[in-house]
Amino acid sequence: MADVVVIGAGMGGLAAAARLAALGHRVTVLEQAETHGGKLGVLRRDGFTFDTGPSLLTLPDVFRDLFAATGAPLDEVVDLVPVDPVCHYRFPDGSTLDLPHTDPAAAIAEAFGQEAGRQWRSLMAEAAHVWDLVEEPVLRRPFSVGDLVRRSASPRDLMAIAPWRTLRSLGRKRLTDPRLRMLLDRYATYSGSDPRRLPALMSVVPYMEQRFGGWYVRGGLRLLGDAVFERCQKLGVEFRFGARVSRVETGAGGVTGVRLASGERVGAGLVVSDVDAEHLYRDLVPSPRPLRSLRRVQPSLSGFVLLLALRGRTPEPRHHRVLFPADYDAEFDAIFGKTPEPVRDPAVYVCSPDDPAIAPPGDEAWFVLVNAPRHGPVDWTAPGLAESYADRVLGVLAARGLDVRDRLRWRETRTPADWERDTGSVGGSIYGSSSNGPRAAMLRPANTSPVRGLHLVGGSAHPGGGLPIVTLSAAIVAGLIGPA
Ligand SMILES: Cc1cc2nc3c(=O)[nH]c(=O)nc-3n(C[C@H](O)[C@H](O)[C@H](O)COP(=O)(O)OP(=O)(O)OC[C@H]3O[C@@H](n4cnc5c(N)ncnc54)[C@H](O)[C@@H]3O)c2cc1C
Repeated sequence: MADVVVIGAGMGGLAAAARLAALGHRVTVLEQAETHGGKLGVLRRDGFTFDTGPSLLTLPDVFRDLFAATGAPLDEVVDLVPVDPVCHYRFPDGSTLDLPHTDPAAAIAEAFGQEAGRQWRSLMAEAAHVWDLVEEPVLRRPFSVGDLVRRSASPRDLMAIAPWRTLRSLGRKRLTDPRLRMLLDRYATYSGSDPRRLPALMSVVPYMEQRFGGWYVRGGLRLLGDAVFERCQKLGVEFRFGARVSRVETGAGGVTGVRLASGERVGAGLVVSDVDAEHLYRDLVPSPRPLRSLRRVQPSLSGFVLLLALRGRTPEPRHHRVLFPADYDAEFDAIFGKTPEPVRDPAVYVCSPDDPAIAPPGDEAWFVLVNAPRHGPVDWTAPGLAESYADRVLGVLAARGLDVRDRLRWRETRTPADWERDTGSVGGSIYGSSSNGPRAAMLRPANTSPVRGLHLVGGSAHPGGGLPIVTLSAAIVAGLIGPA
């Protein structure tokens, strides 16, 4: 019998396993797939290597902390490099902006005028204040409204957090240039949300990216997942792949273990779930109360991914690009509206690292992502849909000045239905629930559950999705469980 069973070997589960093993627990990780990583997947084919999920790493210190707490430092195990400029943006009027890590407001001033630069600087100064208020209580501890209120009791703090204001209304109030408003809106999608419903305090997202930078792991972000997996192995964590958990078993004192789909029982005094919280509370340990809360929040958006193996090199290479549409709101209507549908003219994100390790000499590996409604409301398995939508996205890219259709060696797609099948995330949501609405953070599943001994990590639990944030959830849970 293990002390701790971790369900799921995504980044949240791996980080929890490593931390708990370092605290002296005997840990077993049960993963339904044949490999670790979850959404942090990889495709290797014909000399090309694609990260199939995350492509931008933020808050690198979160990983430095994880590695320092569990053994050799991060910089000894992966080659972490800053990406600067962090991103190249193209706006509907054809204007562009390369947003550097150092002094982005100066770059904005140069591209869009002094007043635009001043407004962005002032907005980010306020976001810095919000960051100081929320970083510790929201990102580093179990969620507690009391904690947050205690830390933001002054009128200035309350005005900065402004729970009644949305990111969209903040942008309308503080920024006059429509391109900057679009840029601010874009950060809502980092939490799978709609800027028209996302609380304004999420202006900390661009602040975080600009203050701590955007990072890349040479060879691909998947190597970070491999490094955490290897760290777990060094610490004696046992992994079982192809082991689908069908039930969390409980007794009078709380959890007693889990039951696998094969019928086998694995006993444990503690269970840490890294699976989608809706899957956990609906299928593995039916729990009406947290399920009710979950259903009061809109699920996060999903993503449609194109992996492009391209012949030759792009004349003006950029690591990250975002190409905005003329009507950005139409994208959020298509995803979060009453009748969801694939976005006709989406914002297109392209990641094309200049890294000889990921493509044959002279060629390029492109990861292309557009936001998409979940599987369910849209049937992403409908015959022909993925291929015809891939053609559409390539056409949109061409219309915005990046026509790569005659350079294609081959392409693959990943749809929301694939995310659901491969990672168990309900509807293929990237982040579980969205942060839409003022109560979203309170309704997000907590790191502790109503069942004694069952804890939650990962993107659908507090504090939310994204690689560093799920890694913080693991630190919170390791803190709650403590040493063996
Ligand atoms: C297309 C895309 C782009 C993204 N881009 C970024 C980015 O640029 N930067 C960033 O920081 N984040 C990004 N993210 C988000 C990031 O990938 C996730 O937040 C993070 O990887 C989630 O990790 P996790 O541990 O919560 O869960 P997951 O990675 O979803 O892992 C859950 C694991 O549980 C397993 N599992 C599920 N059910 C069961 C069961 N019943 N029994 C056993 N095992 C089970 C699954 O197979 C899976 O391995 C992106 C995600 C996607 C999909």
